[in-house]
Amino acid sequence: MSSLRFLRSRCSLRLPAAMLRHYSLDASHPLLRTQGYVNGRWLPAASQFPVLDPATGEEIARVSDCGPEEAKQAVDAAYEAFHSWKRNSAKERSIVLRKWFELMMLHKEELAELITYECGKPMSESLGEVSYSASFLEWFSEEARRVYGDVVPSPAKDRKILLLKQPVGVASIITPWNFPSAMITRKVAAALAAGCTVVVKPAEDTPLSALALAELAEKAGVPPGVFNVVPCSREKTPAVGEVLCTDPLVAKISFTGSTATGKLLLKMAADTVKKASMELGGHAPFIVFDSADVDKAVSGAMASKFRNSGQTCVCSNRFLVQSGVHDAFVDKLGRAMDAELRLGHGSEPGTTQGPLINTRAAEKVVHQISDAVSRGAKVLKGGKRLDGSFMEPTLLVGVTTEMICTKEETFGPLLPVIRFNTEEEALAIANASNVGLAGYFFSQDVSQIWRVTEALEVGMVGVNEGLLSTPEAAFGGVKQSGLGLEGSKYGIDEYLEVKYMCFGGLKP
Ligand code: NAD
Repeated sequence: MSSLRFLRSRCSLRLPAAMLRHYSLDASHPLLRTQGYVNGRWLPAASQFPVLDPATGEEIARVSDCGPEEAKQAVDAAYEAFHSWKRNSAKERSIVLRKWFELMMLHKEELAELITYECGKPMSESLGEVSYSASFLEWFSEEARRVYGDVVPSPAKDRKILLLKQPVGVASIITPWNFPSAMITRKVAAALAAGCTVVVKPAEDTPLSALALAELAEKAGVPPGVFNVVPCSREKTPAVGEVLCTDPLVAKISFTGSTATGKLLLKMAADTVKKASMELGGHAPFIVFDSADVDKAVSGAMASKFRNSGQTCVCSNRFLVQSGVHDAFVDKLGRAMDAELRLGHGSEPGTTQGPLINTRAAEKVVHQISDAVSRGAKVLKGGKRLDGSFMEPTLLVGVTTEMICTKEETFGPLLPVIRFNTEEEALAIANASNVGLAGYFFSQDVSQIWRVTEALEVGMVGVNEGLLSTPEAAFGGVKQSGLGLEGSKYGIDEYLEVKYMCFGGLKP
């Protein structure tokens, strides 16, 4: 059986793969921009790099391939703009961010189309990402006005002690492809609210969403130099990254991506002692205890595992299911996968599973599956790579902690189930990782809920809940999942420093 027929028979893909090629991004798309954006101007570069639709492999745009010179221009422009942007009142910065939020909501559909075409996710999820992305502009437009310092009781009668909060300066922002819009605004909104200026280097796979954000920023009244975007190819990334992480005019780096790249950037930033925020990889455990409501656990698992075809940093990666509910959970989950998951082009109505970002990503999932099967795991659903970078949603049982899928982040639609007997055993497995971003568990036992929440070595816990991201809450990991927090009332602190003012010589 050809892989194409397999795709249609098992995974409800309504269109043959060849027909996927009929999907293409309209060249007259109102928010399609293909040049870098520096100091309020669209910047041509000596060469371009292609942006591909991961569902078809077809080129959808060619984008300016910015190099270290353009990156330096952007840093200089951001440094220049910092001196005036920080002097705006908090209310003035708030108004600009609010306007940017409103423009994003006005252009929700167009922004979502760009996400679907460059990143592959279904339109429903892309629309969700645009709302989520815009919500950071809204949230930080409000937080901009709440940056309070402190007046501290002084031990000396002739002195006052004040703690002032000031913006750190120029921030370099380096982001991944899996949320091409939201990973930018989650950082940039906080930075601009604080009074910082930014240079954004989007992922090479997904520069279009970043450039569309620049178009709307300009319309919203973000002044030249405050928000700069330097797209570049994989080849130019190290040289551009070096400028952004070592230039003395840059005060702060904020990165979202893999733990390996984060470590590299931290080392580069160390020589000039820059502040750093790191949102890195995860390996989320999803635990179902005997006391759980199994139907709710199945819904939570579906949402947490298969969103963006398993390509989110907070996607559950290891499923630990207690013996008493193991068979019922696996049975119901298999049925939900059959009923709810449909592969296809993201712009096709009804698609729930797009492609993975590229064929390398699909090969990684296949490698994890074959490793698990060779060590005794059983494939209950899926298991195969299909055309291009499409991957069948896969359910594995009989998984053990020796298997690679329980040791490494998968970043794909693979759901491996480990059976366990006791709470202690589940916690030992869940915490046996050098990263700790999100964790989930399902339980109806209140004492167990508190015990397990406190014991899990992660930065975010979903209790009877498979989706947890929202701008109001703090997003961040422990261990090697990162440094610092995004969103919430804490997110703006990453772009502020506290200056101690000792006001002396007062007559008591
Ligand atoms: P990646 O580390 O390969 O790339 C992320 C960004 O870093 C891209 O823009 C890339 O071009 C850039 N980059 C790579 N090498 C660089 C260098 N030498 N200098 C400067 N920039 C460089 O990660 P990815 O594959 O794009 O994203 C997937 C990873 O991101 C996963 O591990 C996922 O868990 C993680 N992630 C984490 C969060 C979070 O909030 N913690 C959110 C989304 C994704």
